[in-house]
Amino acid sequence: AATKIAFIGLGNMGGGMAANQAKAGHAVAAFDLSTAALERAVLAGCVAVDSVAAAVRDAEVVITMLPAGPHVLKVYSEQIIGVAPSSALLLDCSTIDVDTARKVAGLAREGGYAFADAPVSGGTMAADAGTLAFMVGCDEPDFARIESALEPMSRATFRAGDHGAGQAAKICNNMILGITMLGTCEAIALAEKLGLDPVKFFDIAAKSSGQSWSVTTYYPWPGPVPTAPSNRNYEGGFATAMMLKDLKLAQDAAAKSGASTPLGAQSEALFQLFDGMGHGGKDFSGILQMLRGKLDE
Ligand code: NAD
Repeated sequence: AATKIAFIGLGNMGGGMAANQAKAGHAVAAFDLSTAALERAVLAGCVAVDSVAAAVRDAEVVITMLPAGPHVLKVYSEQIIGVAPSSALLLDCSTIDVDTARKVAGLAREGGYAFADAPVSGGTMAADAGTLAFMVGCDEPDFARIESALEPMSRATFRAGDHGAGQAAKICNNMILGITMLGTCEAIALAEKLGLDPVKFFDIAAKSSGQSWSVTTYYPWPGPVPTAPSNRNYEGGFATAMMLKDLKLAQDAAAKSGASTPLGAQSEALFQLFDGMGHGGKDFSGILQMLRGKLDE
């Protein structure tokens, strides 16, 4: 049956996600501060409205896909909670800090709402294709309803645990990714200096204990993995600025919780350097060229 969905935040990710909800036959009331984003949503079958309040007022499901924690806290505390019917399911798919996710969950609970932090893995292509992976923090009894609401946008939905656990899973996963990518890049840079062909090294590492997603799916040297951004001068893919955002969230969370994450800290510093050299828009695997000392080639 068609569900009344309010979709707030129609940017690079939210635009495709809202489109998939409309394509699945749901009635999507869409709002974004950007009129260009709203126009794209209308072309994708959504109905544009002129405020968050107008979008959520009679919604059954509210989905937000906003830049960062402060936007999420502001929109939920001022424009969703107390405005949407308390029967509405509230789903925040943005990547934000665990503390803010828990704070919003607490406010939602006081208002009588079911809420989930439900950040995603997968970039804009997966958002457009409806093949994102969702990591959900929620009350256990709400999960079935959440999973079915996310279904048009998802290839896999995991309940990570209670509120905040979805965000925790997201930043921990991306911290592994940042670290394994740097390890892969350093190994390639060393292989090259030693006269070992990085293409030949792929064949070996991919089937040895150096294997990881960064090697087999995203090899940062062109050739062995044709779909990897290394084959297109590191254009598209997962922007360095986005990786840096997630590594910063991981380091903030580590500092607050007292976890020891020295490699996460090194990764943040190295991606900060690459970003600061003007490469924030490049795919994060392009940091190989910095480690090789060949950024201008
Ligand atoms: P984006 O900047 O393209 O989109 C965010 C949208 O939110 C913008 O269109 C902006 O106008 C809108 N917005 C901001 N404040 C608003 C408000 N108060 N009311 C209504 N709309 C408002 O960002 P994105 O790339 O779509 O990323 C969204 C979230 O998803 C981020 O938290 C990001 O970390 C996460 N994420 C992104 C990717 C990716 O590859 N882009 C992958 C996984 C997760």
